[in-house]
Amino acid sequence: MKGMIAVNGMALASAHLILEQDVNTEIRMITDVDDELTRLNCAKEKCIESLSVLMEKLESDTDAQSAKILDFQLLLLEDVNYFGQISQMIEKEKVNCEYAVAARSASYREELAALDNPYLNERAADITDLEKRLLRGLNGREESEITEGEKIVIAQDLTPSQLVELRQKQLKGIILEKGGMSSHCVILARSMGIPCFIHAENVMSKIREGELVLLDCMEGKVIASPDKSCILKFEKYKALKENEALELQQYRSRKAITKDGREMKVYANISSKSEVEELLLERAEGIGLMRTEMLYMESSTPPEEEEQYRIYSDIAQSMEGLPLIIRTLDAGGDKKISYLNIPEEDNPFLGYRAIRYCLDNRDIFKAQISAVLRAGKNGNIQLMIPMVSAITEVLQVKELIKEVENELKASGTAYGKVSVGMMVETPAAAVMADRFAEVVDFFSIGTNDLTQYLFAADRNNAQVAGLNSYYQPALLRTMKYICECARRNEIEVDICGQAGEVDDLIPLWIGMGIDNLSVSIPSITRVRRRICQCSLEKCIKLLDAVLKFNLDEEVHNYIKKEMEQW
Ligand code: PEP
Ligand code: MG
Repeated sequence: MKGMIAVNGMALASAHLILEQDVNTEIRMITDVDDELTRLNCAKEKCIESLSVLMEKLESDTDAQSAKILDFQLLLLEDVNYFGQISQMIEKEKVNCEYAVAARSASYREELAALDNPYLNERAADITDLEKRLLRGLNGREESEITEGEKIVIAQDLTPSQLVELRQKQLKGIILEKGGMSSHCVILARSMGIPCFIHAENVMSKIREGELVLLDCMEGKVIASPDKSCILKFEKYKALKENEALELQQYRSRKAITKDGREMKVYANISSKSEVEELLLERAEGIGLMRTEMLYMESSTPPEEEEQYRIYSDIAQSMEGLPLIIRTLDAGGDKKISYLNIPEEDNPFLGYRAIRYCLDNRDIFKAQISAVLRAGKNGNIQLMIPMVSAITEVLQVKELIKEVENELKASGTAYGKVSVGMMVETPAAAVMADRFAEVVDFFSIGTNDLTQYLFAADRNNAQVAGLNSYYQPALLRTMKYICECARRNEIEVDICGQAGEVDDLIPLWIGMGIDNLSVSIPSITRVRRRICQCSLEKCIKLLDAVLKFNLDEEVHNYIKKEMEQW
């Protein structure tokens, strides 16, 4: 079945199809406006009640991200622009509640979809969710009950709160006909560790309610009524995962030190404050990459300096002296933020993005720098510049930092000194790493972008995914050179791109002399285990050996074979 893996994993369970409920939303003229408004407000009360119950459960589960989504729906119920307009339609146009709810939801969705802001575009799903909730409330209907037992849920799309509710049941997997890689549903599924397959063509018509389904989000397959061999494959996967979970336990509280004593730090990548609690549970030794774009995407104007200062300070304080590396705004490319007015471009990934944009838009950039410097007095904060390709960019940022420091001094505002590092993610930065190492305090290799730029192969294009491989000798040579330049200048070098958490590649990173790996939170313990299983001496030999190959498959196969004997 055609589709895309959105969250890795495997599941075997019976299918539960979520069909759209059809409530009649046709227009009807009403005579008793008060009566209709009472119906609407009763439905609103029911929504508030069910959302609050769900939120309470989530708060006790410390699932802040899911709670935030439900909170957005509660806000919509108080929003004059949404709920207020529904009431007005009933009052002024004398139409029935169902029609008013459906009509305003549709127009509000269109307004959000028209915005050039992926974050707000994705919020359309929250409107649909609330619309359904209100319609159910108006018609006294409850959510169709799911039968007992483990389920793989199959739907056109799932709203975030549907997913949150389903999670209370035995949800093992998700298959969607629609969905988006950055949709809230997928973000939640990932944080819940539930395998998810999206863009599954016509899956609703191919699978029956209750049919046994194997969802293989390792190889990208959906198999209805799987045969014995498929079931055996799943059993093996499950046993492997169970053993792994048990084994991983012991690495939670251990340091990441190779057998021959080389210590590395395992940091977390985050994009919001809500992730801090989880990363502390996983005992991350710092935050190696805070992507600040989300802060800018969540609103219709740039976040105020004060707001940023509070967020950065709160995170730094929670980290109790462990490093927090804040990456300055990396807008542009596929991270569109409409109010920044970045023009339509033929090649957005090669265009006006990140530091290029920030240096031209000093007000926005200085507010962020100022917030970072001020928060610097409350913890161990470092500032990192994305998408650097020319030395002048670093020098200009450093000038700007001085300027902001002087302004803070002049106004008597307290601030802290912060180290300034850069992402090495363009070929130009990699080639000139020897010179860059003289002007920054640390490097962090952004392998997601470095790979796409090195191979001129779009990181989001499945057709060129073969080139975009972290096993490519060209990438490995480039990274080794970056490490050598860092070492010669005695600065630290981290990896904060996806490649940093690939199990088979970790020995190469150790061999190159990478200092720290910054990875997604669910991978922290696994990465720590891998480091503990390696010895620096063997890693150096392995790196030397693979650098002799020409092909990525050769590198891949060699590592696999060698590692079996470790
Ligand atoms: C990278 O490019 O590797 C990286 C970590 O940054 P992003 O994925 O946000 O571009
Ligand atoms: Mg990048």
